[in-house]
Amino acid sequence: MEPIKVTFLGTSGSVPQKDKNFASLIISYKGENLLFDCPEGTQRQIMSSPHSLMKINHVFISHMHADHFLGLFGWIATMTMNQRKEKLVIYSPKKGKEKIKKILAEVVKPSFEIEYKETKKGTILKNKDFEISAFPLKHEVTCFAYVFKEKNKIGEFNRKKAEKLGIPVGPLYSKLVSGKTIKINGKTFTQKDVMDYSKSKEGRKIVFVSDTRPIKEIIQHSKNADILIHEATFLEKQKDKAIETLHTTALEAATTAKKAKAKKLILFHFSARNSDPEEILKEAKKEFSETKIAKELETITI
Ligand SMILES: [Zn+2]
Ligand SMILES: [Zn+2]
Repeated sequence: MEPIKVTFLGTSGSVPQKDKNFASLIISYKGENLLFDCPEGTQRQIMSSPHSLMKINHVFISHMHADHFLGLFGWIATMTMNQRKEKLVIYSPKKGKEKIKKILAEVVKPSFEIEYKETKKGTILKNKDFEISAFPLKHEVTCFAYVFKEKNKIGEFNRKKAEKLGIPVGPLYSKLVSGKTIKINGKTFTQKDVMDYSKSKEGRKIVFVSDTRPIKEIIQHSKNADILIHEATFLEKQKDKAIETLHTTALEAATTAKKAKAKKLILFHFSARNSDPEEILKEAKKEFSETKIAKELETITI
């Protein structure tokens, strides 16, 4: 099974900390590197990670607060100096799209094509290996969560079955697997003749929940997620502050993960007030034992 890797480029929220950069991450799968949020300092963090600045073709911005997108301009300026040629696609909420476009055109003048896409509820990117969808969160400004979903495996091709049926080895096999009907000597064959559906497998799912209050939609979209990555700006003792600024406490994020039956919860986007990761972890583990605190530049593989 091809691994899916998640690299945390930073873990802090609102302001950077001496030992923590702003929260953002890269999901890597089958040669694609997908960047989620691009705060200030992201390009230097990428340089310190196993990733390359130039080999990211899609970036997904959750919302237009400074700690989630200001790094785009510096990163794109660097790639312009390095003569990047490949197209970059930037997904962001509607208002962000115009802002980002304007600043880039006036200040950076990118040397390569940039496609600006508006993030909307539902599927926003789909290819043969995975799809990315989004759903709205509850924050001070329009903010989206992003869901990475590996394509489901419908089953396995059974070569012996195909040979028995007298289907010649070659391109007809992949035609059948892809769902096409073929005819040999007047006989018709379809996918079900050569597939072993008992080998089907649900694709892996990673959910990235940026700044928000807890809402039921997060539970719905995170059902059985392999990893739920969730902001935990505050602790329960600061709940008033969480409600006032539309953020989540570690305990609330853990409750969401428990209700969603997620396999693993990884917390990040920490307030500078909560410098002790053990305290955050202890609070979350009261509700959900499979909790982890994201570490700077750490890569998690599933
Ligand atoms: Zn934030
Ligand atoms: Zn925010």
